[in-house]
Order: sequence, then C-alpha cells, then structure tokens
Amino acid sequence: MIRFDLEGRGIRDPRVIEAFRKVPRESFVRAGDEAAAYGDFPLPIGCGQTISQPYIVALMTEACRLGGSETVLDVGTGSGYQAAILAELVEKVVTIERIPELHERARKRLEGYENVTCLLGDGGLGWEAESPYDAIVVAAQTPKIPPALLRQLKIGGRLIIPVGDRFSQELLRVTRSDENSWDREFLCGVRFVPLISEAG
Ligand code: SAM
Repeated sequence: MIRFDLEGRGIRDPRVIEAFRKVPRESFVRAGDEAAAYGDFPLPIGCGQTISQPYIVALMTEACRLGGSETVLDVGTGSGYQAAILAELVEKVVTIERIPELHERARKRLEGYENVTCLLGDGGLGWEAESPYDAIVVAAQTPKIPPALLRQLKIGGRLIIPVGDRFSQELLRVTRSDENSWDREFLCGVRFVPLISEAG
C-alpha cells in the first residue's frame, strides 16, 4: 500500500508515510474485512458509512502541512483511522462523529491514543471549545463550506474539505489568510458520503 498507492501516487511527506507504517489499518475495518484493509479503496464500516481509501486519507493528511505541534479537528470520525493517522503527527486531535454507534466503536479503538478526543455531535458546526485549529479535515461531502469551520481556523490554518454535489466533489484546501479572507486551492476530484448537518 505504501509503495504503490501512497509513494507511487505522489505522497512525499516522510512523516505522513511513517504514520501510515505505524497505524494498523486492519484494526479499523469490520471483522472479516481484514484481508482487504490495505487495498486502495473505501470499505463499508456499517450504518451506511465507509472508511476512506488510503490514498485519499494520505492526500488529505499531507495537504494539512503538519509539523508536529498542531491541534487538528477531524470531522466524520467514521472508523477512527484518519484520527489515528493524525494522532501520530500532531499534538492534539479532536474528532467528531454524528452516528452514536460509529462514535462508540471508534472511541474504543482509539483508547490507546492519549492525544485524541472523540466527540459525538454535528461536526458541520465544528467544535468551538477547542478552537482555533491549525487544520480541519472533513471526510464528508458538502455543497457549501460550513461557516463555523472557516471561523474556527487559525490565521494560516488549513481546511481540507470535499465541496460539491452528492455525486462528485472538488477536494479543496482552504487557507485562512487573515481575519476575513480564505484562499481556495483545488486538490483533486473525489466522491464522499454526505455531511449531514444543521449547517446544510
Ligand atoms: N474519516 C473516516 C475514517 O477514517 O474512517 C471516514 C469517514 S466517512 C467517509 C464519513 C463520516 O462522516 C461518516 O462516519 C458519517 O457518519 C460522518 N458524518 C456525516 N455528517 C457528519 C456530521 N455533520 N458530523 C460528524 N460526522 C458526520
């Protein structure tokens, strides 16, 4: 997976590659799916949701430009895999999931990660209490960027988010350049499950 699907497709940050070496992806898939855990495709995790494909998790992680001292908000905990990868790379990870069953399973899986806080709630509203964030990663599709996420970024902070309709989205990196401006960069085309949020 690392050689062909990550390095082979352009993932270069050595810290990101090292994080993928450390986190056992088979512990984040459903029982019986372990043999498929290192394939470069999403897998079902129950409740109609998926664990994202490894390359996209790596791309989103690398796009955050993490140095080690950051606080990151992870919206859409799902299996907990993205949160575990981030936990290897930064000081603090706050991860939020709206489906109680998935939240509870991920919370148990992530028990050994002392720098991860698992929350149950609407991540489209962000999580004000731990803000501002150096980076926010959203693993669910939204037609518009939720304003709370833009506001909860530090100046210089990066938001990685799939924006578009149900069937195709643009993965964007949105960097807060000052109090009232955010710069958008297109990273690639993606297809995520929807963000179900009060924020729309
Ligand atoms: N990052 C996850 C992983 O590593 O397994 C993959 C997440 S899956 C593609 C998207 C997740 O976002 C689902 O678990 C879904 O329930 C969750 N979700 C959707 N809308 C949400 C919201 N408003 N707040 C929090 N989680 C949400």
